[in-house]
Amino acid sequence: METKQITEQKEYIEKISKINEGKVLKYYILTMGCKLNENDSEKIIGMVEKMGYSESKDINEADLYIINTCCVRENAEEKVFGKLGELKKIKEEKNIIIAIGGCMMQEEHITNKIKKSYPFVDVIFGTHTLHKLPEDIYITITKKEKVKDVIDIDGEIYEGLPVKRSNNKQASVTIMYGCNNFCSYCIVPYVRGRERSRKPEDILNEINELAKEGFKEITLLGQNVNSYKGDKEGYGFSNLLRDIDKIEGIEIIRFISPHPKDFTDDVIEAIKSSKKISRLIHVPLQSGSTKVLKDMNRKYTKEQYLNLIDKIKTQIPDAVFSTDIIVGFPRRNR
Ligand code: SF4
Repeated sequence: METKQITEQKEYIEKISKINEGKVLKYYILTMGCKLNENDSEKIIGMVEKMGYSESKDINEADLYIINTCCVRENAEEKVFGKLGELKKIKEEKNIIIAIGGCMMQEEHITNKIKKSYPFVDVIFGTHTLHKLPEDIYITITKKEKVKDVIDIDGEIYEGLPVKRSNNKQASVTIMYGCNNFCSYCIVPYVRGRERSRKPEDILNEINELAKEGFKEITLLGQNVNSYKGDKEGYGFSNLLRDIDKIEGIEIIRFISPHPKDFTDDVIEAIKSSKKISRLIHVPLQSGSTKVLKDMNRKYTKEQYLNLIDKIKTQIPDAVFSTDIIVGFPRRNR
């Protein structure tokens, strides 16, 4: 359901589109990182296109630059600062707006560095304030002020943001945000906050709309997708899968990334009883050593992981698996 905050942001979009009326304006967006960030960028694009900007693939011809950052990939920082260096030259020559958001902006040392070394950046927004981008851009256009809009408390879930899909057959739908697991190598719980799940009715409405628009394949997204919890007692990921399975027009359902410890029997049962849920199941292993898994705080042993795979294979003989394995995990000295 659309909240008051989103209605306000839509009003800012409207105000910016009036300011931009009659002008030919372009945006350039750089998206780093995972599927969730790509899905966030679809929302950003949905908003900026309604403000009157159209996409450009040429960094030299845009009027609005957006960088949606990731802090997991190793060279992300250098890439971001390299891109800001390029933008500095463009900004010296023409009046452009530069907005930078995403996971990296949740790290204080990064935003401090941007403010100190790249003071020409107009808007800094975080993972919990993405929905406020219209207001932030409006302030920078009308008041010529720099805006830093980052909070480090768990953001609320906002429904009703405009979305521009990058594909017209396959769509990603984020069903939950954040993570409670604190795997020792992962920054996600610190930059995306604790787990918050969308209401089942909001997810089902979105997928129903997508089905009506002709989308056939849905990928459910969440940092820990199978720990999804609906708003009703006992309504979990398996119930959601069963409800999505009933939506006419949707032919393939995928989900990433599940955690092995949350791969419960009822989820296996929901996959087994569906003809639409993909038999290619992603189950991140991360390490084949129980000792290393313990150091990683993964909360399962090698044996438990293998038992899970056996159980899925027994219940769903045509299941095939993909996985993630970390090579070079630094072990603690003992
Ligand atoms: S479950 Fe995934 S997102 Fe959560 S802390 Fe572990 S690796 Fe990071």
